[in-house]
Amino acid sequence: MIGSMLVVGFLAAASAPGPKPVLEQPYRVVLDAGHGGTNGGCHTADGSTHEKDIALVLAREVEVELERRLPHAIVVMTREDDATVALADRVAAANAQGADVFVSLHANASPRHDQAGFETFVLDAEASSVEAALTARRENEGGRAAPEPGGAAPQAQLMIEQLRAAAHRAAAIALAQSIQREQAQRFPDRADRGVRQASFDVLLGVRMPAVLFEAGFLDHPGDQGVLLEAAQRHEVASGIAAALVDHYRRTARGRQGG
Ligand SMILES: [Zn+2]
Repeated sequence: MIGSMLVVGFLAAASAPGPKPVLEQPYRVVLDAGHGGTNGGCHTADGSTHEKDIALVLAREVEVELERRLPHAIVVMTREDDATVALADRVAAANAQGADVFVSLHANASPRHDQAGFETFVLDAEASSVEAALTARRENEGGRAAPEPGGAAPQAQLMIEQLRAAAHRAAAIALAQSIQREQAQRFPDRADRGVRQASFDVLLGVRMPAVLFEAGFLDHPGDQGVLLEAAQRHEVASGIAAALVDHYRRTARGRQGG
């Protein structure tokens, strides 16, 4: 019996699409707490709490929660304290790390104090500097290809960069959708403002899937409660971490080649 069971087991293992023993892939996450130092960002209606502080607390909570859920993940913070960090330095740090994903954390305020809800931004491809740079390069190189030493290599390189940018953008959209979904599940009564596109400086030039999460409106009483009250804010952080785990599971499968 043992022999035939082994055969059955072997056949089942060979044909079943079920879970294979998985060696975890490296996963490096950059958490960017928005603003900081002399750049406070927006603030609550009474001015007592600034966006930079909420962003940092939230980033720390996401870090803890992500490391709990995915112990092998490496989390890199663009700032650990109330430091002034230039946008270019945040981008450069993320690129230098060769990170797998970049998440910038922010809170919002509205001119008439009447907006509420959470939203996730991906870089608008039309407006992105990646596209602008690629276009500029095409223009500079001249569409009709003055013959150069090296021949087709620059064109091939350009194509690879375009494909990479498109893949990162698709992954960023999937991550953004996942972040929104996780928040909506945890906060069914809050306004889900969806996934949106914009050209944020901090997302420009990031060579990995990158999103910017606006956790809520600090000048809205309901949102302010969510972001200032520890238990609720922890749920926000937990949702972001869950989306990052989800992102890892999706992309790690891809990297294993199925
Ligand atoms: Zn901000």
